[in-house]
Amino acid sequence: MNFVESIARKRDGAELRPEEIRAFVAGATAGTIGDEQLAAMLMAICLRGASAEETAVLVEAMRDSGACWRLAEDFPGLVDKHSTGGVGDTVSLVFAPLVAACGVPVAMMAGAGLGHTQGTLDKLATIPSFRVATTRGEALDRLAACGVCFAAQSDEIAPADRKLYALRDLTATVPSLPLIVASIMSKKLAVGAGHLVLDVKWGSGAFCRTLPEGRALAGALVSVARRAGVSVRALVTDMNQPLGDRLGTASEVRAAVDVLEGHGDSRLRELTCELAVAALTLAGEAAAAAAARVTEALASGRAREALDRVVEAHGGRPDFSALAMPLASVDVAAPRAGIVTAVAAEELGWIAVELGSGRRNREDLVDPAAGLVVHARIGDRVVEGEPIATVELGTRRVDLGAIVARTAAAFAISDDDSSPLPLVAARLDGTG
Ligand code: URA
Repeated sequence: MNFVESIARKRDGAELRPEEIRAFVAGATAGTIGDEQLAAMLMAICLRGASAEETAVLVEAMRDSGACWRLAEDFPGLVDKHSTGGVGDTVSLVFAPLVAACGVPVAMMAGAGLGHTQGTLDKLATIPSFRVATTRGEALDRLAACGVCFAAQSDEIAPADRKLYALRDLTATVPSLPLIVASIMSKKLAVGAGHLVLDVKWGSGAFCRTLPEGRALAGALVSVARRAGVSVRALVTDMNQPLGDRLGTASEVRAAVDVLEGHGDSRLRELTCELAVAALTLAGEAAAAAAARVTEALASGRAREALDRVVEAHGGRPDFSALAMPLASVDVAAPRAGIVTAVAAEELGWIAVELGSGRRNREDLVDPAAGLVVHARIGDRVVEGEPIATVELGTRRVDLGAIVARTAAAFAISDDDSSPLPLVAARLDGTG
């Protein structure tokens, strides 16, 4: 069948046949289907959805577009962690050294920035000489050296996701349950950790806007993992405001170092610890012992030391004073006194992208110096003129007046009382 016909069938709401889905993935991987047709299919799936059966075929085809590393065969107990994408979501950079310091190996196939979210790969790229693994041999070397492997889609592994992920980033086709499930689970299954912790975000800065959507995405991810024999735990977590207080690539690496040194953002620390405990319990530890071990690894400085080893094992220099710094910064003042009742987290993410911490088109380079610092959180009382955020400028030319106005408008301030939602809204378990 001609691929235009498959696009038309999905556009009109038909269910794609397995062979049509496999042809789509094969064409994306080999480059035999052009970007315009791939993007049209992605948009058709985004608008029309996909059945559980179509999604399962898409996951499998994307997983099999490259090698399956089966890393758990060499590292039993190996844990992987993935977030569905949020703002100020620096968890991976804290989680990996923390869990490794607790004696559990971690392999993570990370992603670049997607839509309004900043990606782990872009953050790691700000560390001088840091190189993620792109082959199985590199992954094993890194795991043997430090108990952690950060990996990326490559010609060898998950090449279909590499292609489709980059296209979705530029074509507004990210917020689609089947595309998110296929993207995440194809990579996770290709890496082959036996345990998987999922951080499924819901709220104004997430791809799932409502809690029921977040629960549905978590359920779909857990059911694919279970069918593949992976033991999995999903936490549905609050993304109705940025998780940490910093947005931006180098800035988020500094935020992670701060948490590992015991003085970072409390929400970022709290959620990372919850996810780390979930990882340790999946790996066989009792919940109370896991919590104690996580607390000790942070308090003793062992998790911080593990970060240096992770950086070195990935070819980098653990000199965080060498990270890019903003060239200038401008405070954004509260337009009135009152209580912060809402934060437009997606808008803050897009502002960070505009400043340089993400890509607006294929040509854009990420500027490690750019970002935003968020000072006011939901429930905080602010006085008029007090800084509620700071815009951090890199080398990209921006309309500063417009950026400051947009940032101020992202905070709803009123006389009403308000308090933040619980960080963890729901937990789903599945043992493969
Ligand atoms: N993370 C991914 O790897 N893929 C998505 O589609 C969303 C978040």
